[in-house]
Amino acid sequence: MRIANYIDGVFVEPQNGRYIDNIDPSTGKIYGEIPKSTEADVTHAVGSAKKAFPSWSQLSASKRSSYLLKLADELDEKLEYFAKAESKDNGKPLSLAKKVDIPRAIDNFRFFATAILHEKSEIHDMGISGFNYTLRRPLGVVACISPWNLPLYLFTWKIAPALAAGNTVVAKPSEITPATAFILSELIDKVGFPKGVINIIHGKGEDAGQPLVSHSDVSLISFTGGTTTGEKINRIAAANFKKISLELGGKNPNVIFSDCDFDKMIQTTVRSSFSNQGQICLCGSRILVESNLYTRFLKAFIQETKKLKIGPPMDPKSDLGSIVSKDHKEKILSYVELAKKEGGKVEFGGESITLEGEYSGGFYMSPTIISRLDMSCRTNQEEIFGPVVTVMPFSSENEAIQLANNSRYGLAATVWTNDLKKAHRIADNIAAGIIWINSWLVRDLRTPFGGVKESGVGREGGYESLRFFTEPKNVYVDLK
Ligand code: NDP
Repeated sequence: MRIANYIDGVFVEPQNGRYIDNIDPSTGKIYGEIPKSTEADVTHAVGSAKKAFPSWSQLSASKRSSYLLKLADELDEKLEYFAKAESKDNGKPLSLAKKVDIPRAIDNFRFFATAILHEKSEIHDMGISGFNYTLRRPLGVVACISPWNLPLYLFTWKIAPALAAGNTVVAKPSEITPATAFILSELIDKVGFPKGVINIIHGKGEDAGQPLVSHSDVSLISFTGGTTTGEKINRIAAANFKKISLELGGKNPNVIFSDCDFDKMIQTTVRSSFSNQGQICLCGSRILVESNLYTRFLKAFIQETKKLKIGPPMDPKSDLGSIVSKDHKEKILSYVELAKKEGGKVEFGGESITLEGEYSGGFYMSPTIISRLDMSCRTNQEEIFGPVVTVMPFSSENEAIQLANNSRYGLAATVWTNDLKKAHRIADNIAAGIIWINSWLVRDLRTPFGGVKESGVGREGGYESLRFFTEPKNVYVDLK
């Protein structure tokens, strides 16, 4: 697969003619080429988005909505094809891509295509003297930058509301997983979006992402990725007065009380630990268990984790596929070594796995459970972003809250108890943007999504997204 940039409604090569290898993580083999775009390509894309902005933003909401709905229908028809492409590019089980990634990408388009039809503006009445009304207008050219873990899902989470609100877009998917964004550009072309409304640039963060966020004609940045990259981008945005939303890393706690529904909790905790090989920003990686349940929990958790099958992503029996890249797998395994040095006990896993035959060069590892670490160690403080969790006991509600909040991150948490009052108390006291009580990863697209502390700045989701992708303008009318 030779990927092309999509600029001004045309599939184009990078101006320098250079490409990066695209690696299939399930085999470790090169299977395609990705444009190594640079500032010149970004300038071309931003220019085309700028040219397209006036007419796109002046279309009626229902017209913009109809383009997005058509795109959603096309994607729906090709769900299976996209799921296979996502699985091959990222290493995630095909079953997961079919059940979560692609359906949610379709939902993103449908949700924002219809949400925009229900937008209303505010008026602030001042009685007989006058009144204010608020206009919400798109900003212009916006930059959408997304990571590799949920490639199409997070890519569409940004471009759908941006376009629905009337902006024109230059988007850059992760260079590690560009395939589904590329085949989406083929659908965008088929649907016939006006030229320049959506431009997709492929390439590395420093070569293509950085010039994009720095471009003076880009007035808004929606970024999902790591905290270090987010900090870099935030500096550029701040110095240039750009509107920004940052969805960053996490080190999410699962707080488990002995009065929970044990079976449901165990099944969900296995999922929240190891789904997508633990490479979901919302995975729980610090598992806190009430002391009187600790031994029973650990035994059952290990038993259930042992049942997970690691295998080729396309095999319907695989629960875990491959890690996204060789470098990332090495990084995760280095954390297992660090955990041992810090005094941790590997209760299960911690190993590199070699599959047979054509998959022998793939990047597989076992789900890993580590105990006996305290909260201050690096293993518990740094984001590993892989199938590695730690388990720790706590003996009181206060201690659970303290441990959960002992982190520079604050993205998500789960709380497990059947005591409703306690559940609310804990949810209220954990510093995080998203809390699930007795569940995990239930998403309602109307709800605000984002983190606190170093997990991010701002919220996306539902009307939060439509507000983010528009600027309010207050108009006062004097009646005196
Ligand atoms: P990175 O921060 O490395 O990259 C994210 C995106 O930014 C990629 O498209 C990357 O391009 C690009 N990029 C890198 N450097 C720059 C730069 N200087 N300027 C502009 N763009 C740049 O994150 P990962 O892709 O490794 O994703 C994993 C991270 O994402 C984890 O920390 C995870 O927690 C977080 N995440 C957060 C979520 C949330 O909602 N809070 C959801 C999902 C993931 P390229 O890859 O081509 O270098």
